[in-house]
Amino acid sequence: MNKETIQFVKCPTCQKDVEWSDKNIYRPFCSKRCQLIDLGEWANEEHRIADNEISEQDLWSEDDLSNYVGKH
Ligand SMILES: [Zn+2]
Repeated sequence: MNKETIQFVKCPTCQKDVEWSDKNIYRPFCSKRCQLIDLGEWANEEHRIADNEISEQDLWSEDDLSNYVGKH
């Protein structure tokens, strides 16, 4: 038995080598951030913001907005 052996796993999110130990509460992830990303929370947050920005720009380009305001 070799108790000194340290096991490494790859973080599923960023593929970084992560030490598999009781000290790493986020294993198999390297960090809380990567854990959230894998759970979809982080990604959902990012996508929601991105979608809002894109759809607003699509609906109201500067030309459309000034035309609309001008006609009213
Ligand atoms: Zn990671």
